[in-house]
Amino acid sequence: QEVSLHPFVQEILRSYRKTIKDKHLTIEILGDETITYVTKYELFYPIVKNLIENAIQYSQIDGTITIDFGFTDMFYFIVNDSGIGISLEDQERIFERFYRVDKARSRHSGGTGLGLSIVHNYTELLGGTVMIDSHLGLGSTFTVRLPIK
Ligand code: ATP
Ligand code: MG
Repeated sequence: QEVSLHPFVQEILRSYRKTIKDKHLTIEILGDETITYVTKYELFYPIVKNLIENAIQYSQIDGTITIDFGFTDMFYFIVNDSGIGISLEDQERIFERFYRVDKARSRHSGGTGLGLSIVHNYTELLGGTVMIDSHLGLGSTFTVRLPIK
């Protein structure tokens, strides 16, 4: 399917509007209004949904989230947050099923630890890669790169 990125991202954000409001999060979408990407929707949707959900979940009050997408030689989708960050040690394991950084700090969210393993697996199924750049206390950036048909 051909996905129109702006409305697609807006629609996902809408399902988190209460948390976004409660945490006073600022969300910026940098990608061009007109960008569309042809992909398998049932794989692409959970990738984007989980990355945005995590960015919102692991952001603190007054945080900023930046979402960017576009084309180079591949399609890229980037989610940056100014949240709690992930240590290098944890970054090595973060894509494993059921892995959560620390129960005390993730306790509020009550997640299962499956989100990023889905992101990783579905990205591979689509022939792409996912990269993480994160610093404890500063925030995280997840970059997904996917092939262009
Ligand atoms: P769920 O299955 O509901 O997604 P989860 O969010 O705990 O549960 P993952 O999405 O796989 O599971 O993330 C794994 C862990 O990685 C999280 O528990 C959290 O500790 C850490 N993490 C993920 N994204 C971020 C982020 N943007 N900032 C800080 N920590 C993160
Ligand atoms: Mg998650």
